[in-house]
Amino acid sequence: MTFQRVAIIGLGLQGGSIGLAVQAYLPDVVTTGYDRDAITRTRAAERRLVHKVCDTAAEAVADCDLVIFCVPLGAMGIAAEQVRAALPADALVSDVGSSKQVVAKALGEALPDHVIIPAHPVAGTENSGADAGFAELFRNRWCIVTPPPQTNLVKLSQLVAFWEALGANVEIMDADHHDLVLAVTSHLPHLIAYTIVGTASDLEEVTQSEVIKYSAGGFRDFTRIAASDPTMWRDVFLSNRQAVLTMLQRFTEDLTALQRAIRIGDGETLFNHFARTRATRRSIIEEGQDDARPDFGRADHRADHRTDPKPADS
Ligand code: NAP
Repeated sequence: MTFQRVAIIGLGLQGGSIGLAVQAYLPDVVTTGYDRDAITRTRAAERRLVHKVCDTAAEAVADCDLVIFCVPLGAMGIAAEQVRAALPADALVSDVGSSKQVVAKALGEALPDHVIIPAHPVAGTENSGADAGFAELFRNRWCIVTPPPQTNLVKLSQLVAFWEALGANVEIMDADHHDLVLAVTSHLPHLIAYTIVGTASDLEEVTQSEVIKYSAGGFRDFTRIAASDPTMWRDVFLSNRQAVLTMLQRFTEDLTALQRAIRIGDGETLFNHFARTRATRRSIIEEGQDDARPDFGRADHRADHRTDPKPADS
């Protein structure tokens, strides 16, 4: 048995998608929601992202047995403090933040008497805000749950059942391991995309129109990632600083090795490296984590974003 009354704080891509998914797949569960932005609240009510959009965070959590914080990483602590007085004592506290150690600390400091089990649905797009959410976002995507030691096992199994009902595959992981894994699979790729797109845009010898015109040569895929929300990604790098710096160091060393192979004309090293990375791509497709169709299934993506086979995150 999962939860009866779910409160969602933050009604953007993640919060809106959870609200719609609960209504689609757990129709007996009542949802309330709050966002600090009045325009977002109005739009959330128009789109019926939750059953009831509240004017305060306190009102949204008043009766809930699960509250999920879906706000930027840097706002988790403030958002949790805003519900402290109104949150029922037995309500489970969770979140969807993209890095876990910092969020666990922030929520723990704000709500020291509650059971807190952080989670991270590894599902997203480059869009944000009240219009971005859709009920199918989590289907066949991983949701990593990072319970602290000696966590309440009943509440943990309820949270796992909740995410599975929304279509996610759940993995349990320590928060520090989560942060290391996501640093290499999500955070570093975003940093590289932000860098490449910035570099290309800054090149004086290549005009902006040429960059756009010939973007299909690989650059376009980076631009999709580099279009991700600036607030979210600023907070990701600030909150998962150590793990990102560790992975960046490894990446820099590997890049230098390839740079050297190019400089000395070592084709064998280049070929062997590219053959290995091609095998990684095949494994991802075999595991159903991406689409092997030509152009990555983009034509379908444009026709119906709910079948998006290429999540941006995170
Ligand atoms: P989003 O679309 O920008 O939505 C976040 C919403 O929270 C915004 O409407 C924001 O309002 C609101 N907010 C900020 N502070 C608040 C507060 N104190 N109380 C209530 N609402 C507040 O962002 P998102 O993509 O859903 O991301 C939310 C979280 O999910 C982040 O922690 C992120 O790390 C995580 N996540 C994101 C993805 C992804 O691909 N996007 C994937 C997995 C996890 P303002 O616009 O006024 O700030």
